[in-house]
Amino acid sequence: MKQFVFSFEDKKTKILKNKKNILGGKGANLGEMGRLGLPVPPGFTISTEVCDIFYKNKKKLTSKIDSDIKKEIKKIEKKTKKKFGDLDNPLLVSVRSGARVSMPGMMDTILNLGLNDATVKALAQKSSNGRFAKDSYRRFIQMYSSVVLGIESHLFEEMIDNYKLTKGVLLDTELDENDWDGLIKNFKELVRKEKKVDFPQDVEKQLYGAINAVFLSWESQRAKTYRKINHIPDHWGTAVNIQAMVFGNMGNNCSTGVAFTRNPSTGEKTFFGEFLINAQGEDVVAGTRTPQHITKKAKKDSGSKELSMEEVMPKVYKELAKVFTKLEKHYRDMQDIEFTVENNKLWMLQTRSGKRTAKAAIKIAVDMVKEKLISKKEAILRIDPNTLDTLLHPTLDEKVEKKIIASGLPASPGAASGKVVFSADKAERLNGMMQDTILVRLETSPEDIHGMHAAKGILTARGGMTSHAAVVARGMGRPCVSGSSEITIDYEAKLFKAGEEIIKEGDVITIDGGNGKVMKGLVPTVQPEISGYFSTLMKWSDKFRKLKIRTNAETENDSKTAREFGAEGIGLCRTEHMFFDEERILSVRQMILSKSKEDRDNALSKLLPYQKNDFKQIFKVMSQLPVTVRLLDPPLHEFLPKTEKDIEEVARSLNLGAKEVRDRIAELHEENPMLGHRGCRLGISFPEIYEMQCKAIFEALVEIRNEKAKSAFVEIMIPLVSTDTELKILRALVDKTAKVINIKYKIKLDYTVGTMIELPRAALQAKLISKYADFFSFGTNDLTQTTLGISRDDSGKFLNDYINNKVFEIDPFVSIDQNGVGELVEIASQRGRKTNKKLKLGICGEHGGDPRSIEFCSRTGLDYVSCSPFRVPIARLAAAQAEIKR
Ligand code: PEP
Ligand code: MG
Repeated sequence: MKQFVFSFEDKKTKILKNKKNILGGKGANLGEMGRLGLPVPPGFTISTEVCDIFYKNKKKLTSKIDSDIKKEIKKIEKKTKKKFGDLDNPLLVSVRSGARVSMPGMMDTILNLGLNDATVKALAQKSSNGRFAKDSYRRFIQMYSSVVLGIESHLFEEMIDNYKLTKGVLLDTELDENDWDGLIKNFKELVRKEKKVDFPQDVEKQLYGAINAVFLSWESQRAKTYRKINHIPDHWGTAVNIQAMVFGNMGNNCSTGVAFTRNPSTGEKTFFGEFLINAQGEDVVAGTRTPQHITKKAKKDSGSKELSMEEVMPKVYKELAKVFTKLEKHYRDMQDIEFTVENNKLWMLQTRSGKRTAKAAIKIAVDMVKEKLISKKEAILRIDPNTLDTLLHPTLDEKVEKKIIASGLPASPGAASGKVVFSADKAERLNGMMQDTILVRLETSPEDIHGMHAAKGILTARGGMTSHAAVVARGMGRPCVSGSSEITIDYEAKLFKAGEEIIKEGDVITIDGGNGKVMKGLVPTVQPEISGYFSTLMKWSDKFRKLKIRTNAETENDSKTAREFGAEGIGLCRTEHMFFDEERILSVRQMILSKSKEDRDNALSKLLPYQKNDFKQIFKVMSQLPVTVRLLDPPLHEFLPKTEKDIEEVARSLNLGAKEVRDRIAELHEENPMLGHRGCRLGISFPEIYEMQCKAIFEALVEIRNEKAKSAFVEIMIPLVSTDTELKILRALVDKTAKVINIKYKIKLDYTVGTMIELPRAALQAKLISKYADFFSFGTNDLTQTTLGISRDDSGKFLNDYINNKVFEIDPFVSIDQNGVGELVEIASQRGRKTNKKLKLGICGEHGGDPRSIEFCSRTGLDYVSCSPFRVPIARLAAAQAEIKR
């Protein structure tokens, strides 16, 4: 018959498969500590499976489980020589939750259960300590009333505070037995008043009330929210641990504390923790008394005057230190521990892997390899790649209070403060005057690039995680909060509203692109330092990974940053981003609006030197690495003048009337530009544009061929292809352009030609398309958009509903939809390689920087992933993890 209740010493738990799944983390570890010979008060675990049974059984336990619990209580009675509800020597227990993974503070705990008006007297007598007994009883009433009866615990705290005021004392420890007696009476009256019942005196009723409450807390709102944020499945359930109480509040040779075996914020190898003399567990975290340090060193470092545990209880401290070492050796990880000292005897109440900052996680992992506790592979697997983000961008000072006025999508991590501006030009102007700005736009367009670059951060009211603002900001390493529907922007009045707040141009705000929060005023930031440990971890990762990591970059600066972060080439250079410079835009507009071929050639010849110079710089930075240059992709109207002034300027330069220009702009308007005249369709309509771009690429190669810094290897990429004929025509154009250069300079240019696979038809037709391609690069932004039929720029408005309703587990623009889009990637890879065995495969959509998608790419046999410069280290680690896990 299936077992649902396990004593901590139950031999079966040692060999139980998926111990933590059944006993929960706390239960499994309490048993394990006992087996290690550590002092653990006796107790038992009601398994996580009972949580499910409880809910299916109308929120009640079955009679079998009931009787098993009673048997286990008997066993504790035997071991402690105490009896539950006894009037001579009463047993008290704690009832605590314990899920598979720790969910700190999310579920409920009850201590001192088993006390009532009669047993409290027995406890007083047995311990010869009336104050301790009464203190324990009032704590129990408080906890039980709050957790089981649902009376707000601050009502009890207020009673204590008022009482202390009238008595003229500050600390709980200054209250004596009589004081607690009086308060207990008042507490019980409060229960009667609030719930119209007497505080339960039957200890068994107390026990079942507490067990039920712990199971019920699994479905509390805060636990549900925590699970959602941390991707913890709802069906896991919590276990319940029932354990004999030991007391840290019996006098001055008693204490209670929590500790980490290493410093969880720096990773330093020193015990780190706090304890309180004559107290119970919750006092340490409650903040009513200031806890003391565990070690002398920590006390000294913090400048505290209170004695450390090392000084006050030297013998117990030594014992504790040994326990810390033993636990680390056993679990091979930094532990987060709870302990209690009762009459100078140490008791262990909990151990678990401690939560830590990214910085600490890296240091601990690297140190543990050096200490031979773990292997390099384990060290790599221990770091959540996404947390590295926090090490690569400035972060807000945690100690400072913040006034949050709105939130949006965490589009590009990092924090930034500055004056609010509503136009890119203004951001640029203020930047010239050395002023920090936050560019606030409904959404951004390529024309805002200069302002985005000039601003310290970007806030948009619309747009998803792959909107223009998000992609460009991540590429630039600019913090960005996108799609903040909580703000309404009034460009005319130069202000935005967020709830009651009105923020005018020039007011200072702070954004945190790591969590999507918008704050009023300036919140100071701290510069992250990339320690030597970080690079050690990166080097180890590089040894294990097979996927190459490239970057998406189109400027010399971004390319440099990416190379410093370890990029092995450029997987996507979006050439349209090179057109928006103020000097170039006029020529671009002339090119688009000119009526004669002569005018157009003239405009193109003006653009050529700019493109060539950009390419030269990038090719040099990426010396001897591959650089994929994508030919022009976005619809032409994005480049068109919008203001009257700009329209007149182009008209003048082309000897046209302003009306003619306006008419042409109207002609170019598209209802759905994402599916319009963009990508290779431009190359088919206006081959001279692609020809100019190729010429610029090839001439750049020619001009740096004799320089010391060797050039990059160029791969020319055609966007938005859906048929093999498109690629056939455009490849011929590239080759023809190369041939002219070859003849002119008597050389043989070295380059390859490939295509983006970003439309479903292209993926399906890969067998034919790969005849003309040396490589495929999956543009999963567009491939997601076109496969799901969800606009990448509008998805932010409703995708949350899809995630809340579990239609998608995660935003498909963030992590590749493996079943749908992923299948197309697999099909294209297989069909493509069937025709062309040497076909190189990569991904350059935003998914290239997402660890889950990287694992998918590794499984699918891609050669490389390409992501924004600041995600390169994340991708290096994720690629190593993918390989190790395989
Ligand atoms: C893509 O579609 O995934 C891609 C990389 O191209 P872009 O984002 O420039 O459309
Ligand atoms: Mg695309």
